[in-house]
Amino acid sequence: MPVTMICPNLKCGRTVTAADSARGKVVRCAHCQQLFMVPSGPTTPREDPVDSPEEKPAKPTPRR
Ligand SMILES: [Zn+2]
Repeated sequence: MPVTMICPNLKCGRTVTAADSARGKVVRCAHCQQLFMVPSGPTTPREDPVDSPEEKPAKPTPRR
């Protein structure tokens, strides 16, 4: 059963399918040529919530 992954290249992000024999090996994304490792365990492509630390600058107190 082929392994389906999301390309780790943030600029690509395409779905990449690798052969089952490619588990634990390094494959190349056909879209962006990015090399990455195929996880050996079963994977389900899903969107991980992106941790974006929001740095809100302190609002200056309006003065009159
Ligand atoms: Zn890619």
